[in-house]
Amino acid sequence: MIPFAVQKLFFYFWKKLMMKIRGCLFCQIAAHEKPAKILYEDEACVVFQDIHPRAPVHLLVIPRRHIASLNEDLGKDEALLGHLLAVAGRMAREQGIDGTGYRTVINTNAEAGQTVFHLHVHVLGGRILRWPPG
Ligand code: 5GP
Ligand code: ZN
Repeated sequence: MIPFAVQKLFFYFWKKLMMKIRGCLFCQIAAHEKPAKILYEDEACVVFQDIHPRAPVHLLVIPRRHIASLNEDLGKDEALLGHLLAVAGRMAREQGIDGTGYRTVINTNAEAGQTVFHLHVHVLGGRILRWPPG
């Protein structure tokens, strides 16, 4: 039996290799080249439903421009990062999960479970979310 941590690392490098071969999935969604249930878009960001929802509401808020993760130097992108969070909050209100509560998550790199290397904010809600996350 392969340990979970090794499986995760393998998956991480596999996803990175796939992105090199096939290009960035979320760039393709933002450009409407790949299908997704898009709920909102503007000049800076796109919001769509996660294909494997982990909660009754599970949205992804992404910048239109390719940014791999928070590990990039984002000094010039503070307004964009703020915009992503403002849109996440607005989407949560629209989805009716603001009162009960919701979680915004940004996974960065292997040990956090990042599998798509285009920055995205998860918006999860509609059920009780345990803490700390696994
Ligand atoms: P991460 O694990 O990188 O934080 O989150 C990536 C998310 O993207 C996952 O929750 C996964 O379900 C979602 N995802 C992966 N591929 C697709 C896709 O083709 N379409 C959509 N809508 N979501 C995807
Ligand atoms: Zn991208």
